[in-house]
Amino acid sequence: MTTEPTAQTEEPAADAAAEPFRFFRLEVARTERLSPTLLRITFGADGDGSLDGFASGGFDQSLSLFLPHPGQAEPVMPTGPDWFQEYRALDPGVRAVLRSYTVRAQRPGEVDIDFVLHTDPAGPAAQWASEAEPGDWIIALGPAVPDNTGVRFRPPEGTDFVIVAADETALPAAAAILQALPEGQPAKVWIRVPHTDDAIKLDTAADAEITWLTGATGGVVDALRAAELPEGTPYAWLAGEAGMVRELRRQLVRERKFDRRAVAFTGYWRRGASEDQFRYEAEDTDAEG
Ligand SMILES: Cc1cc2nc3c(=O)[nH]c(=O)nc-3n(C[C@H](O)[C@H](O)[C@H](O)COP(=O)(O)OP(=O)(O)OC[C@H]3O[C@@H](n4cnc5c(N)ncnc54)[C@H](O)[C@@H]3O)c2cc1C
Repeated sequence: MTTEPTAQTEEPAADAAAEPFRFFRLEVARTERLSPTLLRITFGADGDGSLDGFASGGFDQSLSLFLPHPGQAEPVMPTGPDWFQEYRALDPGVRAVLRSYTVRAQRPGEVDIDFVLHTDPAGPAAQWASEAEPGDWIIALGPAVPDNTGVRFRPPEGTDFVIVAADETALPAAAAILQALPEGQPAKVWIRVPHTDDAIKLDTAADAEITWLTGATGGVVDALRAAELPEGTPYAWLAGEAGMVRELRRQLVRERKFDRRAVAFTGYWRRGASEDQFRYEAEDTDAEG
């Protein structure tokens, strides 16, 4: 879960120029259906400067989106200095819906975000994406400096091989990670998707062995358990449905005895919980220690 952008923006910045996250208006430029499950939305209205200062750190760079509820044309979102208090004071049924997503790519004046169009049940973000048209807009609390806490993929010096395990929601991040890995970097990758046609082409210069899986998320857990891993120092990046991520992490740390600092893991969603419920539970668990 990512709550850091919110937390960091709450603090008054000593030096405004160094503030790691700030608000951007994201206007839909075009959409492209990548696969049965994934829709790419490219944001950035021609030359309006709304993405000036957007500075993705690449890899799994996350950001917070503020979206309209179904039936609303635009997000109801305060973006001034007291935005957090003002946002909290608004009716949850009216104020913008907050959801976490990944910067799949950034080019001058443009940002791509790949949305999973889940329908069982659909959530407000998936529904908004499925109906998005050029000219529609949302608000993002996005990166204003490339080195920020929304980038979690950070293999330490001396890493010999990389493990990536993801589901469809973490496929955009996994794709960006693979694209950024150095040439020849040994990597083993498992990606679970709902349909075989979701196995999109992934560009990488790494020496990556990519395994696509469909079916239950438990398939990724079993596949990793059965895998023969290379010799050397590993670094693992795990993201997707929270139950799957927990199982994968347990397996690497308890069974394979990975150093826990070499396992970056993030629950991206939880079956049966909206992101608001999931976020609330995560905060509750943190508070309990
Ligand atoms: C750091 C981070 C980065 C993320 N990056 C991306 C990204 O790039 N692309 C992306 O699509 N998602 C991404 N996610 C996941 C996304 O935030 C969640 O899937 C979110 O729940 C979607 O919001 P929603 O409004 O559509 O559904 P919600 O209102 O949050 O949930 C409604 C219902 O749908 C279920 N649900 C949520 N997601 C799925 C799913 N994928 N399949 C089936 N059921 C689901 C929930 O369990 C709930 O029952 C990311 C999450 C995090 C924490």
